Amino acid sequence: MNTATEEIKGRLNIVELISTYVRLEKSGTHYKACCPFHQERSPSFMVNEEKNMWHCFGCGKGGDAFAFVMEIDGLDFREALVLLAEKAGVELPTYRETEPGQKENKDRLFALLELATKFYEKQLWQGNGKAKILYYLRDRGLTDESITKFRLGYAPDGWRHLLEFLISKGFTEKELEQTGMILKREGSSGHYDRFRDRIMFPIFDIFGHVIGYSARVAPGGDETQAKYINTPETALYHKSRALYGLFHAKQAMKQAAMTVIVEGNIDVIALHQAGIEHTVAVSGTALTDEQLTLIKRYGKEVRLFFDMDGAGQKAARKSAELALEKELLVSIVTLPFGKDAADVGKESGEKLRQVVGEATTAQNYFLDTIVKTHDLTTATGKRQAVDEYVSLLRVIKNPIERAEAIKDLARAIDMDERLITGMVKSLFLEQSRRDGPAPLRAPEDPFRDKHAFGKRSELLRDELIALMYVDPVLRQDLQKKIMMQGLQSFFETHPLFFFLVQSGDGADPLALIEDQKLKSEVTRLSFHVLESPEVLGVTQEERKDIWQDMAKRYLADLYTEVTKREKLLSLEKALDEAREKNDKKREQELLAEFVLVSSATPDTGGEVV
Ligand SMILES: [Zn+2]
Repeated sequence: MNTATEEIKGRLNIVELISTYVRLEKSGTHYKACCPFHQERSPSFMVNEEKNMWHCFGCGKGGDAFAFVMEIDGLDFREALVLLAEKAGVELPTYRETEPGQKENKDRLFALLELATKFYEKQLWQGNGKAKILYYLRDRGLTDESITKFRLGYAPDGWRHLLEFLISKGFTEKELEQTGMILKREGSSGHYDRFRDRIMFPIFDIFGHVIGYSARVAPGGDETQAKYINTPETALYHKSRALYGLFHAKQAMKQAAMTVIVEGNIDVIALHQAGIEHTVAVSGTALTDEQLTLIKRYGKEVRLFFDMDGAGQKAARKSAELALEKELLVSIVTLPFGKDAADVGKESGEKLRQVVGEATTAQNYFLDTIVKTHDLTTATGKRQAVDEYVSLLRVIKNPIERAEAIKDLARAIDMDERLITGMVKSLFLEQSRRDGPAPLRAPEDPFRDKHAFGKRSELLRDELIALMYVDPVLRQDLQKKIMMQGLQSFFETHPLFFFLVQSGDGADPLALIEDQKLKSEVTRLSFHVLESPEVLGVTQEERKDIWQDMAKRYLADLYTEVTKREKLLSLEKALDEAREKNDKKREQELLAEFVLVSSATPDTGGEVV
C-alpha cells in the first residue's frame, strides 16, 4: 500500500494540487494562502513544495496531499487514495483490501440490497403495508416526500417473502446470508427472512448505497419482539461506523460545521423535514469513537438531542464525555419530559428549529443537573457534586475550558475556586489510582505528555525531532547520539520518534503515519525548521551545516536539562522521606540543594525559539 501512496505523492505536485482548491501565493521558499479550514484574514496556511507538505499555523492542521483532500473533501483514506490515484494517473490494480473476486462479490451484495430496498418500498406503497404502516408514519408527522427520500419500506409478515423474491432474481442463499437478510433454520438446512412485519429504514453509506437496515416492529405487530433490530455485522455493514442519515446529512454537516445527533431514525427524518439537515442517529448502539471520528471530519461541533428519560440522559452523558474527549464542542438540546424530537416536529417545524437552536453547552447542562440533584447546603452534598462533576472535567483537555468549568462549578455551589481546584486534583489522583497504572504510552497523541517534563526540555526535544525529520543523514546521526546519552526514553515520549526510527534514512516518515493529529504535528515542526531565520536564503549545503550545528547545541542543552530534571526528582523523593521521618535538619539541607539545582542554567546557552 505504501508504494502506491508513495508513487502518487511522487507524481503529484502538491502546489498544483492545492492550487485547484485554494489561491496560493509564492512567499520566499514556500507558498501561502488564507486557510480553507478556518476563518482568517491574513494567511497562515503554508505549502512547501520541496517536502511535499502543508501546514496551517492558525488552526494547526497539516500533512501531505492525502491529508489535504481528506480534510477538504471529507474523504476517508481509501476514498482519497482513489481520487488522487486518478489525478496522478496511477493505476491501483493491486490495491485491494479484499481478495480477488471479492470486489465483484461486493458489487453483487450492493445490488442485492438495492433490490431488497425496492421490494420493501413496493410493499409499503402498494402492498400489505399500505394501510397500517403509511398511516403510522404519517401520524408520526412524516410527509410522503420524506418517506420517499429516505426510502422507507415494509417487510411483510411471513417467513420467506424476501428470500423467494431475491432467489427468483438470481441471487443465492449464500449471498442473502452474507448481507444478513436471512437466518438459518435451527436443525435443518432451510433459511427464513430475518425481517418480518417491520418498518424498514435503509442505512446508506456515504455514496448512497444501501448497506443494511434498521427495522422497527410494525405498529400493532408482535410487541414482544425487540422494538428495533438491525442488520448484523457484515462485509458491508459495520455498526460501530454506520450512522443513520449520514448520506443525506453530510453536505449540511460540512456547511454547518456541526452535527446534530438524535436517538431515533424517525427523529432524523423529522429534523431533516424541519430543515435541520445536519442530523444523524446512532442506530442500535451507543455512540462510538469511530462514529465521532467520522463526524469530526465534517465539523468540530456536535449537538446531542436525546430523550429526556433516564436511559436517554445516561446515553447523553456518556456520549458527551466521549465527544469532549475527542475535543469536539458539545452542546445538549433539552425537551419537555416525555416528548421526543418527532413529537415536537409534528407540532411545528418552527418549534423544532427553536428547540435545537437553544442548546446549552454540555458543561453547563450537566452542572445544572448536578446542582439540582444534590443538597448544596451541606458539606457532603457539595463534596458529592464536585465528585460527580470531576468525571466530566477529566475529559476536557483544553486547560482554558477546564478552568472555566471549575469557575462555573465554584459559582454554582458557592465555594472558593482554589478549594475546588484542590479537590479536583486529589480526585483525579484518586481516580487514576483506582483505574490502575496508566497504560503504556502508545505512539499516537503528541500532546499527551505535554506536562511530563519541563517545558524547556520538551521544546529542545521537539526541535531535535524536527531536525531529524527534515534531514535523513542527521536523523541517523542523532539517533545514535540519543541512545549513547541515555535520552532514548525521553525521546520516546514523542510519538514521532517511533516513526523516525522506523523509517531509517529511507522512506518518508509522513507516509507511515495515519493519525491526522500527529501528521499536523509533523508538518508544524518541519515548517519551523525549514523556515527558521538561520537558514533562509542559504544554499542546501550551508543549510545542512547550520542544521548540524543546531542539533549539536540542542542536544547538549537537552542533556543538561534532563539530568537536572532527574536530579530534582530524586531530591523530591528524598525530601518526602525526610518529611515522613520528621527529620528537620535533613529537610533543610535537601531544600537548599533543590533550590540550587533548579535555578542552575545550562552553560552552553543555546536559545530555543
Ligand atoms: Zn487553518
